[in-house]
Amino acid sequence: MTFIKNYILRLQEKIRYYGYLYYSLGSPIISDSRYDYLIKKLKYLENKYKFTWLKKDSPTLTIGSPGLLGLKKYKHITPMLSLNHVFTASDYLNFYTKVKVFLKEQKINFCCELKIDGLAINLIYRKGTLKKAITRGDGITGEDVTSNIYLISSIPKQLCGFNLPRTLEVRGEIFMLKSDFARLNNKAINNHTKTFSNTRNASSGLLLQKHLKTDAIKNLVFCCHGYGYFPDNLNMFDHSSRLIQLKNWGLPISGYSSIFNSNADILNFYKKIKSIRDFLDFDIDGIVIKVNSIIFQNKLGYTHKAPRWSVALKFFDKEKVSKILKVIYQIGRTGVITPVAQIEPICISGVTIRKVSLHNFNVIKQLDLHIGDVVTVKRSGDVIPKIVSVVKCYRSNHAQRVVSPKLCPVCKSKIKLDDNSVKVRCSSGVMCKGQLKKLLYYFCSKHGLNIYGLGYKIISKLVDNNYINNFSDFFNLTYDKLSNLDDIGKKTVLNIISSINQSKNITLSKFLCALGIRDIGLGKSKIITKHFTSLNNLMNANIQDFYLIKGIGLNTAHYLFNFLNNKSNKEMVFHLSKNLNIYSDHINRNSIVHKSNILFNKRIAISGSLQTFFRVEVINIIKKLGGHVTSNVSKNTDYIIVGKNPGSKFIKSRTLNTKVMLEHDLLKIIKICL
Ligand code: NAD
Repeated sequence: MTFIKNYILRLQEKIRYYGYLYYSLGSPIISDSRYDYLIKKLKYLENKYKFTWLKKDSPTLTIGSPGLLGLKKYKHITPMLSLNHVFTASDYLNFYTKVKVFLKEQKINFCCELKIDGLAINLIYRKGTLKKAITRGDGITGEDVTSNIYLISSIPKQLCGFNLPRTLEVRGEIFMLKSDFARLNNKAINNHTKTFSNTRNASSGLLLQKHLKTDAIKNLVFCCHGYGYFPDNLNMFDHSSRLIQLKNWGLPISGYSSIFNSNADILNFYKKIKSIRDFLDFDIDGIVIKVNSIIFQNKLGYTHKAPRWSVALKFFDKEKVSKILKVIYQIGRTGVITPVAQIEPICISGVTIRKVSLHNFNVIKQLDLHIGDVVTVKRSGDVIPKIVSVVKCYRSNHAQRVVSPKLCPVCKSKIKLDDNSVKVRCSSGVMCKGQLKKLLYYFCSKHGLNIYGLGYKIISKLVDNNYINNFSDFFNLTYDKLSNLDDIGKKTVLNIISSINQSKNITLSKFLCALGIRDIGLGKSKIITKHFTSLNNLMNANIQDFYLIKGIGLNTAHYLFNFLNNKSNKEMVFHLSKNLNIYSDHINRNSIVHKSNILFNKRIAISGSLQTFFRVEVINIIKKLGGHVTSNVSKNTDYIIVGKNPGSKFIKSRTLNTKVMLEHDLLKIIKICL
């Protein structure tokens, strides 16, 4: 149970950190959908393992984040909550049914509004004069941004008209128009200063400045969508009539709100807003549906986090419109040249997209892509951006067709067409620095030696400085060589060196994959090395041996044979084998040491990091003992070996009562059997 508690605590901590980056610093590092997924996972675990004390400060119960240090805090008069979210019509219908059942009313009016993607603000007016502007903060206390707010012209400093209350809390959204955002970012690019990744980040960056550095804050606008403290003696008991009253006092409200009482109308409103969304000059991420009657709202009440009388029906961001700025050509490890479109930045599901891979020149042909085209971009599988279509009616007469390059973008050698003219390839091999860098990067990546810290940028610098020209050079890297590179800290250098040393134990399949041979990824490497118990066997195989492998096509067999029989490649593999301990991943069943050991013929999962062994070593040992290592836990798993900081596999194993084995238990078995 301690493990589960720790796991939940760690997840809470992680979510709090992401929340801090998003709410307080305005610079999220994960997508909104990933954040929502983590919250969902945490909720599930907290409900399942009812540790009440664990829930106390959980992000599932709290709102926003504590805020930035240095800004004064101020308490809201009434709490400023969040909204419950749904993403599908059926989830919205659940909300509607719950409201209907609870109120037992035939006809309920709902006020439907746009969900503006900005920053929530609470404005406190006393006798019509703006006294305080406070961010939402943790819902109870927010940051006092009054002095910054004074520069936003759409926020009235003095309300006008009749019946101005002694105290009034006005709630709304501060945001930036898309057109202003594009203008400010262009200016920043020209001045070589920091650009913002989306309108929301720009708004929070400008609003939360501790000391005003620019007057760019004047570009922020305000729209009122609610209220906190609103005196009852004004006798206004409809949400919509209160908004109209706020408008009459001089506050800007949205012109898009409508009242409906049927689901069909509400869902039509949602569809309509979704269809015009890209043409609005401000970002929205859904609609908000609110029970219109304040009497009904009071009956429904609130949860700790959000009102029960309203819900946000969010857009599950899939597609957005952008513009092709230019097409650049990137070279891969096997020489394939991939066209990549640079587009006007757009934000889909919380992630800013600036580049979209076009994969190959057939895609360009099919899309009939031109520079300057307006295109629809989608995140396929909610991850990888893709251009779905070109909006041809927006194409200018001068738009230039995208054509395939004649020369390699890096080494300028001639380019060849292959694979039915779909792929364009530079044929200079590792003589082309572009290919060499990508190949070396692949070698160090998780497909190969998995060397921590050696990312593309560092490898590129190592090549440019002539410290690395081939795979073996990684093992001659010294502290001094690495420290000579720009922008690299002592700690990173030490980590890289230690990781290079750790990478020296490698399975044959990983080693084969690391070589970056055309068509051979980890899947095929595993199939191939199943047939060769040692590197020696593999190097001495003939073409027929490769042809006979099930799952390996003729082309792949040729690429492999040609690669391994090329003189300089043979020398390179020989050199590498001197630096590395390459061992077969497939143990001959006859070599299993003790059939009587308890791991023999058992299905074993591993969770967490072990102190004595690297993961590959444990896997190999288990195989030697006749066990089968599984990547998942199921009811068929016999044992789970648990190391430090175990993760989700361990949690699942607890629900299935899988037998636990600790590292010292494994060591005992090894001592006896190996
Ligand atoms: P929210 O922003 O989704 O909804 C609540 C807010 O909507 C209110 O505070 C209000 O200011 C605003 N709003 C806009 N129009 C409105 C209207 N017409 N009526 C009422 N309110 C309106 O909720 P939240 O709690 O502020 O943020 C949670 C969401 O933020 C998450 O679901 C996630 O998608 C995102 N998030 C992302 C990260 C990340 O790292 N990517 C981190 C934290 C949160």
